[in-house]
Amino acid sequence: MMGFAPRFGGRQDLDTIDNEPKIPVVAINKTDGEELKAMCQTGITMVELSTRLEKGWFECPLIDVFIEGTEEPEKYVLLHGHLDSWHVGIGDNTTGDAALMEMARIFYKHRDKLKRSLRIAIWPGHSTGRYAGSTWFADQFALDLDANCIAQVNCDSPGCRQATSYEKMDWTNEVEDHCKQAIYDAVQEEAKGKRPNRAGDYSFHNIGITSFYKLSSSIPQEQLKEKGYYPVGGCGSNIEWHTEDDLMHVADYEILRRDLRVYMTSIYRVLQANLLPYDFRKTADEFMETIRQYQEAAGAHFSFELAASEATVLRRSLEEFYSELQLLQMENLSSPAVREANEKLLQLGRTLIPINFTRRGKFHHDPAVQIPALPDIAPALQLAGLEPGSHRYRVTQNHLLRGQNRVVWTMKEAQKIIRVQ
Ligand SMILES: [Zn+2]
Repeated sequence: MMGFAPRFGGRQDLDTIDNEPKIPVVAINKTDGEELKAMCQTGITMVELSTRLEKGWFECPLIDVFIEGTEEPEKYVLLHGHLDSWHVGIGDNTTGDAALMEMARIFYKHRDKLKRSLRIAIWPGHSTGRYAGSTWFADQFALDLDANCIAQVNCDSPGCRQATSYEKMDWTNEVEDHCKQAIYDAVQEEAKGKRPNRAGDYSFHNIGITSFYKLSSSIPQEQLKEKGYYPVGGCGSNIEWHTEDDLMHVADYEILRRDLRVYMTSIYRVLQANLLPYDFRKTADEFMETIRQYQEAAGAHFSFELAASEATVLRRSLEEFYSELQLLQMENLSSPAVREANEKLLQLGRTLIPINFTRRGKFHHDPAVQIPALPDIAPALQLAGLEPGSHRYRVTQNHLLRGQNRVVWTMKEAQKIIRVQ
């Protein structure tokens, strides 16, 4: 399969055509930076740098594997990772590509036992194009992803030296319990996760797909401190990340086996579950907490009363919905009631995930930057610092009014999905 992607800034459309960066940026690691600073302190230091920009539309290879399940073959988990790397890139992301190929081999071998399908994508354009490969994929298969993708799972930098901890995982809230349990059962480790950014090929928030894992295991926090390692974004926290030293010594076969167990357990359980293991009560709890924080920050300058009370109503409706689901626990996937319940769980994601992770509409893409929780009402954090009555203050209030409308309306839509007929 071939896609076309510009090698800068992902895949633009007319809304983003002018966002192309114009300033060349050079990044150096901390150690070299310290050396440079020390040299500057001793007197005049001359540094020469040059950049070469290759700009255009390039044909890129993209691997797309589909392993068909037996009971609900149209529904699939999308498992993915990036093929391109910096320099040799053993820890980021050769180990991930090896893991994806091994999972393809094992799941294919046992495909007669899979209830749902597994789609594995290995794409280009992760660093050279800021997620252009996954964005192309999200655009190309948008309608099918919307109808059939039950979860998306990223596999980046597993199997790296000394990376024995699972305290830096990513997941959307509704799968927190599922992920923690799967990790514990696979490797007997307590895991911690956080809200995923629009980074690391998480190009599916605007469609509203439940998501888990991005980077894999990591060197434990205390060991990182002991070693004095600065934070990096891959290679299991080994600082060879994105340097010429990301070579074979960064990979660890035993750790790769552990990470594979984590990925396979987590994915297999979603493929086999009669009822999808998604708990959107956690999402409603997260909304309530986010709104509370925004209200606290905005003080008397804006009232989030509407959003707060709607979140409470949503939470209550979800409680009823989940107690109804209890009655289906013993039924299997062929039951129409189970299928209907799963469809509702998918639709809850399609509805609630976009308002929590995106500003732009469905099938569009937000820029790959930090996006706060319930971004439409996040400017609440700045409001109290503005001069009351000033232009900026009033515009921010307008923004929050519109934002709150979108958030409240979406929570009402979510309730329509789960309302018992
Ligand atoms: Zn990576």
